[in-house]
Amino acid sequence: MALDTGLLIENIIMLGIEISPEQVSMFETYATMLQETNRYVNLTAITSPEEVAVKHFADSVSILSVLDTAESSKIIDVGTGAGFPGIPLLIMYPGLQLTLADSTAKKLNFVSNVLDELGLQAEVVHARAEELAHDPDYRERFDFAVSRAVASLNVLSEYTLPFLKIGGTLVAMKGLKAQEELAGAKTALTVLGGEFNKAVDINLTDNAERKLLIINKVKPAPDKYPRHGSQISKKPL
Ligand code: SAM
Repeated sequence: MALDTGLLIENIIMLGIEISPEQVSMFETYATMLQETNRYVNLTAITSPEEVAVKHFADSVSILSVLDTAESSKIIDVGTGAGFPGIPLLIMYPGLQLTLADSTAKKLNFVSNVLDELGLQAEVVHARAEELAHDPDYRERFDFAVSRAVASLNVLSEYTLPFLKIGGTLVAMKGLKAQEELAGAKTALTVLGGEFNKAVDINLTDNAERKLLIINKVKPAPDKYPRHGSQISKKPL
């Protein structure tokens, strides 16, 4: 068994979201591919049927409990890795205009294979976020930016806020340190045109601490942001 489907369904229902048998079967295929590819490409440390159900799939889908108008939105997943949270969101809402960006080609190779196998459409971009956000085709073009396990909120804001249209929303998936990261990102949000909206607690069966930090884009980010990666790490906002 690649995926504990009962546990997946239980957790999706806990989120107040409906899931069809076809969607469950797509998650099973995704889990099988994840486990098989993970034998020779380092994609994830989370591979058990139970953990994949909760910590990858339901965790990713939890974003839909805060995005009620996302069905046809333009959304970018920054640092998607093996496709989280982006691909689970697309399985649930196939109409999303989704861009999956990451700086690691071998992970994106896997992501493209999963999309092909599931018959889903998304744009897959091999780039560093801080470079892609200066491309006019990507800057201020998205309704939503989502991201999990990529950087602390101050750095993540520099990576993601420039992608958002004014009125767009960043959903940062965070854990135990969410409040601390939020306090540490005050300057970054002000400089980059972001405004903290709310923190939403997410409860799943593993009882892990989860918070979705919702940040609104209220002003354009000045042109010089995001800075070069080395400057971001040397002098984070
Ligand atoms: N979001 C996925 C998840 O939650 O399973 C992957 C998390 S993994 C710990 C971090 C990912 O972010 C890696 O795949 C890495 O290549 C990517 N990444 C880190 N910095 C990045 C940057 N500046 N631009 C694009 N991708 C980046």
